[in-house]
Amino acid sequence: MPAAPAPTRADAEALDRADPLARFRDRFVGLDGSAYLMGNSLGPLPAATEDRLAAFTREGWGGRRVEGWEEWLDLPTRVGDRVGRLVGAGPGQVVVGDSTTVQLHKLLHAGLSGRPDARAVAVADDEFPTDRYVVDGVAADRDLEVRVVPLDGCDGPVAADAVARTCADGAVGVVVASLVRYRTGARADMAAVSAAAHAAGALVLWDLSHAVGAVPLALDADGADLAVGCTYKYLNAGPGAPALAYRARRHAHLHQPIHGWFGQVDQFAMDATYAPQPDARQLLVGTPPVAGLLAVDEGVALHEEAGVDALAEVGRAQMRMVWDAATAALLPLGVALATPADPARRGQHLALRHPDARALVDALADDGVVADHRAPDIVRLAAAPLHTRFVDLWDAVEGIRRHLAA
Ligand SMILES: *Cc1c(COP(=O)(O)O)cnc(C)c1O
Repeated sequence: MPAAPAPTRADAEALDRADPLARFRDRFVGLDGSAYLMGNSLGPLPAATEDRLAAFTREGWGGRRVEGWEEWLDLPTRVGDRVGRLVGAGPGQVVVGDSTTVQLHKLLHAGLSGRPDARAVAVADDEFPTDRYVVDGVAADRDLEVRVVPLDGCDGPVAADAVARTCADGAVGVVVASLVRYRTGARADMAAVSAAAHAAGALVLWDLSHAVGAVPLALDADGADLAVGCTYKYLNAGPGAPALAYRARRHAHLHQPIHGWFGQVDQFAMDATYAPQPDARQLLVGTPPVAGLLAVDEGVALHEEAGVDALAEVGRAQMRMVWDAATAALLPLGVALATPADPARRGQHLALRHPDARALVDALADDGVVADHRAPDIVRLAAAPLHTRFVDLWDAVEGIRRHLAA
């Protein structure tokens, strides 16, 4: 690919002026002039969420007390269906509750319950730690071998041919993989990877933590089986907000293993023994975290208002600009780009590799640019188009350039 001309700060300012989503930045609390490039770690607080939670505590919990359950009881499925619309999942397949880790554990058992003959479970190489721990723990419980799916190059996404090779002998029941890798931002091809797994008799359990709210998703159309994902990253639902769990309708017989009263077919028939709900409610366990669910609802509402297409378009433009700026300014200074060049194969953060990654992030912080470091050598700059400005990304690249050139 021929090198694009290096964007200038004036170019970045012009892109901000033309940005159809620029007005959304003011809908967040506390950003002021700062460059907050950690929307992939903890999304900032939407003002609407602050109001919604204040109203909930005052009028809901404070005012209605136990009667509030009339409106809260079905939040996990109501908010779940709303998240479902955002990720291309028809109604009745998504619930929100529990942490991502717990959802992973539940859905991995569910997926494996459909393959009692499976001898192995597979996980993408260099997968997020909690995902690896869940896989190792469930494999030990079920006496399964753990296989590692090699990545496409050391930075690339999990690829269909690698999944096909890992699962070729038919022993793998479930493949666990992030759609967008937390380290490099590399993004897998959901349809192709799913098809490769299915051809070998395996299901895929996708971790959408760095994808939901960041890139357009079409879970139903792409043949997804099972998925989980964070809501406190690009969905701005706040620290510890509950995670999503998706189970394709055709897999409704795959039950998660924690039998709780929210998954019971007649929740208030108090003496009954457990009989599972026939639909996504079987994925529920116990009393849902109401405040967190309201925050997810507001986060998704902001994304709906902005529109999935506009978010995707501005997101791609931001990634292109920061990619071009980093290529021109930083490659000559010994920085490598770990994020793929192909726009279809990347999510919404740029990962830069440099041995002094830690010091670079500290230097950015001194300039008011909030970025993050992933050991040992990665700097991540997230472009979350609801609140990130083009100049924020440009200033981050320039800050790194100045530090390295000094
Ligand atoms: C952020 C993240 C998690 C977090 O899991 P929690 O249970 O919410 O702490 C899990 N997996 C991936 C890939 C992540 O990026």
